[in-house]
Amino acid sequence: MSSKKNERFWDKVLEAVKEVVSGEQFETWFTKTSCAAIRDDEIVVEVPSKFYSEWLRRQYLEVIKQAVQRVRGVDGASISFQIAAIAHAGAVGSLPRTAALPRRSSSRDRGTQDRDRLPLNPQYTLENFVVGASNRLAHAASLAVIEDTGRVYNPLFLYGGVGLGKTHLLQGICHAVRKQQPDVRIRYIPCEQFVNQFIAALGKNRLEEFREQHRRLDILVIDDIHFLASKDHTQEEFFHTFNALYNNQKQIILSSDSAPKDIPTLEDRLVSRFKWGLVCEIEPPTFETRMAIVLKKARLYGVEVPDDVVEFIASAILVNVRELEGAVTRFLGFARIMKRPLSLETAKEALGELVSSAQRRVTIVRIVDLVTEHFDVRLADLQSKKRNHSIALPRQVCMYLARKYTKLSLAEIGGFFGGRDHSTVIYAVDKIEQLKKNDIELRSALQSLERRLES
Ligand code: ADP
Ligand code: MG
Repeated sequence: MSSKKNERFWDKVLEAVKEVVSGEQFETWFTKTSCAAIRDDEIVVEVPSKFYSEWLRRQYLEVIKQAVQRVRGVDGASISFQIAAIAHAGAVGSLPRTAALPRRSSSRDRGTQDRDRLPLNPQYTLENFVVGASNRLAHAASLAVIEDTGRVYNPLFLYGGVGLGKTHLLQGICHAVRKQQPDVRIRYIPCEQFVNQFIAALGKNRLEEFREQHRRLDILVIDDIHFLASKDHTQEEFFHTFNALYNNQKQIILSSDSAPKDIPTLEDRLVSRFKWGLVCEIEPPTFETRMAIVLKKARLYGVEVPDDVVEFIASAILVNVRELEGAVTRFLGFARIMKRPLSLETAKEALGELVSSAQRRVTIVRIVDLVTEHFDVRLADLQSKKRNHSIALPRQVCMYLARKYTKLSLAEIGGFFGGRDHSTVIYAVDKIEQLKKNDIELRSALQSLERRLES
């Protein structure tokens, strides 16, 4: 139980946290925390589940420490986590849970029927999914959901731009569930198909059948749920399906191209339901992850590609994994048909047109070269999660200059610096513009950097 004093203290800490993490991150990771104890040398943070404590420890320990330090004005307290005594289900904002319902169908053949209906791509397995900073949370949450269906995160809502792996991950979950728990009735359906089936059922007076089909599932996976926008009747129907499944502790997994609140014309009651569970973003992959993906895709073709080629491809394609994959295929196809070795030369030739986009990278690479030299930091630090001033400032300077001197989009710039999102870049640009006004040292640094860039 946290006392009033703990509460007040924690509110202040959260205020400080809010200043350094994005709104979405705050919503996801901090709104469900509280302070269980304040000691001289230790702050005990109460969290809804083990997953939270692990994630907070891994990703946000420094952030919390610094916020605590700011509020207390003294250094050095350690942070520990404690899992709330109330059932974690309550803490994820859900309805009160009744006794666990049977999670499996008793009849095997019904399970089989549903399985046969899954139009899954056999390549989209979790084994083939490369995990990196940009998708680590989404991946971890997927694993948690497979482990504990309908309980930990319901719904699980994944969102992100085109070609960043949402469908792959969703289908990966389906493959895994199918393999580990063959009796579970799981259904993967692209939202467009859901809408079409609903409309067809309406027309043929088969609504009951349609409802029944979805409501007796253990896991319903709907891909591209933003497709529901402005389809009023379908939203209404989906709302009831959602409630029916949710109230029976059945798992709902959704993907979308944007966060719930940003899906146009999505009813508020759906927006709020989507936020009941866990909402997480899949961001553009970092350079490191792109290299891992190139390697993985090449291996799926049964070949090993030399490092310089991997690097070349990973720096030519900045954001979209589908395009990255396309580049690998093109390179390998070209080499085979033209009977060329798998070398950098061949890659440059095969990916000729893409190099023009690689050329744009020259500028950001040049920016990074100059900035890292000037501030004496490493690129790896700029791409890391580190937020201390000595790293954050040069990173923001890079973003500012990249915005000014390259044609890269905000998302591409953010992606380059460790899979950060466009809002981070906007923030960085604003920040530098502000600082420039009063900070003489920074202003002269910028002037000299810009002069060198322009030369
Ligand atoms: P989305 O549904 O987000 O538009 P997809 O899931 O269709 O994206 O992914 C596009 C392509 O990129 C797919 O072929 C997929 O296998 C591949 N892909 C995306 N992310 C990853 C990843 N992390 N590891 C391996 N392949 C990936
Ligand atoms: Mg998709």
